[in-house]
Amino acid sequence: MKLLLENAHIEGIRYYEAYRKNGGYRSVEKALKMTPEEIVEEVKKSGLRGRGGAGFPTGMKWSFLAKPEGVPRHLVCNADESEPGTFKDRYLMEFLPHLLIEGLIVSSFALGSNATYIYIRGEYAWIPDILEQAIAEAKNNGWLGKNIQGSGFDCEIYVQRGGGAYICGEETALIESLEGKRGNPRIKPPFPAIAGLWMRPTVVNNVETLAAVVPIINMGGEEYGKLGVGRSTGTKLMSACGNLNKPGVYEIPFDLTVEEFIFSDEYCGGIPNGKRLKACIPGGSSVPILPTNLLLKDSQGNARQMNYESLSEGGFATGSMLGSGGFIVLDEDQCVVRHTMSLAHFYNHESCGQCSPCREGTGWMYKILKSIEYGKGRMEDIDLLWDIQRRIEGNTICPLGDAAAWPVAAAIRHFRDEFEWHVLNPEESQTRNFGLAHY
Ligand code: NAD
Ligand code: SF4
Repeated sequence: MKLLLENAHIEGIRYYEAYRKNGGYRSVEKALKMTPEEIVEEVKKSGLRGRGGAGFPTGMKWSFLAKPEGVPRHLVCNADESEPGTFKDRYLMEFLPHLLIEGLIVSSFALGSNATYIYIRGEYAWIPDILEQAIAEAKNNGWLGKNIQGSGFDCEIYVQRGGGAYICGEETALIESLEGKRGNPRIKPPFPAIAGLWMRPTVVNNVETLAAVVPIINMGGEEYGKLGVGRSTGTKLMSACGNLNKPGVYEIPFDLTVEEFIFSDEYCGGIPNGKRLKACIPGGSSVPILPTNLLLKDSQGNARQMNYESLSEGGFATGSMLGSGGFIVLDEDQCVVRHTMSLAHFYNHESCGQCSPCREGTGWMYKILKSIEYGKGRMEDIDLLWDIQRRIEGNTICPLGDAAAWPVAAAIRHFRDEFEWHVLNPEESQTRNFGLAHY
């Protein structure tokens, strides 16, 4: 069942006329007849969890929003999708911009935000124009601006382009950047729900989360909550990449197994050239890499499913490995050391530099991984790497530090023999042609 991408194939759906003709903006009509509290209640009933990666219950986040007398509140849409392997929000904004705008209007009404912001990743250079056109169309048709549809509610949506920094996807860094400052994360608490944009109460939600508000209002929170498995309700967008026959963006039901997702023709269509599956990062680079045996089956030997619970079973991650839905697949020819080095370089480059463990540790990890990958590593470097990642985790202001530590920890935990092989075979280690056959 598709809730978000149902109409994605319709020609011209990016534009207002086709979108409206196919049922668009019905949820706004319905929402404006409800009270804001009733909308929050529907979202709570739906069990919707944040689709940016943390999986925090959306209705609960909304109910935390402070409402001091006379202080404006804001909704901010986090469209700074920068997690390696994650591109599902890009798809939504590019092909279904009105779905996001519709979700934003309903959510703004529920939260009392008269000025709502979309903060979009700088590298998505062509998408702000698409969003701005959709906003203009919505405004021309009375869905935005003053006194929306005669409801007495005013709402403007502003698009703000980011400068291309990964850290600005962290909600407090995003807020700092939106305020015109350097995007340094703030210490939490206070959470944005209490003191966010210009220290006003602010809800920051991911693009997919806000788009999901549309089907929730249309079908009712209870019906939405019946779809899925356990506390994973509704559907989920996944962006699949790496060694796959059919990489792309898929809307999946939560009872889909990981094996079906990778190998069935309906989804990723298996691994090219009949190669074997070596490992996968199921939810964007901030979650651990898993070897095939742990990826396809849980600790009880049951088929692992694509939902928050099944992908957190086994104690491999602090949160769920479903993360931001960035599904990265590695075939038997891929080198885990090289892959980990590449991620370490990324996190080192993107660290904002506020906390020493992250600023220094990410650089040390990258240098050590580079020397192992290029045949200059020593056996004791593997333990040194382990020690550094352990000292970063939990000791930083924002989750980037943890996100930098976890890939290194998981790679050593599950593929230590591959690190050792590099140390023992310095010359071959530089050839790049490294695979399962080596051990
Ligand atoms: P978090 O768990 O700290 O917070 C989740 C949300 O809940 C936040 O909005 C926070 O303000 C709110 N919250 C939590 N406790 C609260 C409380 N007591 N009161 C009020 N609000 C509260 O996680 P996070 O830092 O928002 O996100 C981390 C995740 O982001 C990672 O797990 C990673 O998967 C993901 N991520 C995604 C991308 C991407 O491009 N989509 C990039 C990097 C990281
Ligand atoms: Fe900056 Fe890294 Fe500290 Fe986050 S963990 S605040 S990115 S130095």
